Amino acid sequence: MSPATVPPVLLPGSTLGVMGGGQLGRMFVHAAQAMGYFTAVLDPDPDSPAGRVSHHHVHADYLDGDGLARLSRLADAVTTEFENVPAEALASLAGDVPVAPGAEAVAIAQDRIREKAHFSRCAEASGVPCAPYAVIEREDHLAPVPAALLPGILKTARLGYDGKGQRTVTTRAELAEAWADFGRVPCVLEQRLPLAGECSVIVARGHDGRSVHFPPQRNLHRDGILAVTEVHEGSLPAAQAQQAVAAARAIADGIGYVGVLCVEFFVLEDGRLIVNEMAPRPHNSGHYTIDACECSQFELQVRAMTGLPLVVPRQHSPAIMLNLLGDLWFAPVSGRPVEPAWARVLALSGTHLHLYGKTEARRGRKMGHLNITGPSAEAVRAVAAQAASLLGLPDSTAC
Ligand code: ADP
Ligand code: MG
Repeated sequence: MSPATVPPVLLPGSTLGVMGGGQLGRMFVHAAQAMGYFTAVLDPDPDSPAGRVSHHHVHADYLDGDGLARLSRLADAVTTEFENVPAEALASLAGDVPVAPGAEAVAIAQDRIREKAHFSRCAEASGVPCAPYAVIEREDHLAPVPAALLPGILKTARLGYDGKGQRTVTTRAELAEAWADFGRVPCVLEQRLPLAGECSVIVARGHDGRSVHFPPQRNLHRDGILAVTEVHEGSLPAAQAQQAVAAARAIADGIGYVGVLCVEFFVLEDGRLIVNEMAPRPHNSGHYTIDACECSQFELQVRAMTGLPLVVPRQHSPAIMLNLLGDLWFAPVSGRPVEPAWARVLALSGTHLHLYGKTEARRGRKMGHLNITGPSAEAVRAVAAQAASLLGLPDSTAC
């Protein structure tokens, strides 16, 4: 958007709409309401985590014309909380209200083929490449796949998350079989890389093209799902952190992004960075910002979409976030339903519990997260280890 089309600043008292009613929408609603905005959530689920705390809840499918019309009548601006909201829905809303991020940016982020093409285009400006890959959309794309991409990971271009929609393949026969099992939908085959770790950067970019960022996070995944995020001095080498920030900003600039964007990176064993994927919204790895920074990623989402100033979000405390998956609600051996030991966890200093109001715990389902802040990296690591042990989680400090 050129400066000439920058929408007017929306002050508290306006109504902010969000597509999607999951936990990210809920935390956005909390941030918006704390600042005096009214909120409207569109989500088909009448019991969605964000819908239950919002002033308005439009129960409709994302492409339902009446639902979209209602949202655009209620809201003075609209954002999104998950990347699989149909880009057409955002494009149609944009005819009536400012929408950030825009449909095009979301369309790129929700399709690994377009996303990787964007990363490759940006590689010179960003200084960070993506993994070597091939696009597989048709049968005749299988044979020319370079041998160097095996062993590799076949990923569906669309709708993958938390490790779903991907499979490791070591031979051409396995590749063909996996692609057939995925229903021959468009996919990318990525070289499997020797990872030493993973990190991510959250950038907020305004309508005027100015951006700010949080310090990069170091992330540990278990079974393809984010388990632990750690952000303190020494959690990443300084040069690596700087490189990740520069790349994330270039990636946001390259699509004229407006809103909060998370860019995820692999750290290779030789220290090089590889850009993995981006999420056009706040991200699970940024939840620590609620308690450890002067301004959370959700407040920056509000500021970016309303045109309020984007201040540099200083981190005031070292932090660790432990994701709380539904598995914690089942006893380890018997599998019987249990309530995690919240009172004992909250007796530890610097623990901040965030639960998303989901009534049914299922294994692998994100139910909440625990932020731990403290005066030093050693202090937060020690409390994180105690909290993990009380919750029956593996020792997070081993990451
Ligand atoms: P999702 O959308 O499910 O998060 P990702 O592409 O981020 O999909 O993959 C999930 C996890 O799988 C990553 O966080 C990483 O741990 C592992 N992974 C993905 N791609 C590769 C790769 N090319 N090489 C090694 N590990 C990978
Ligand atoms: Mg990922």
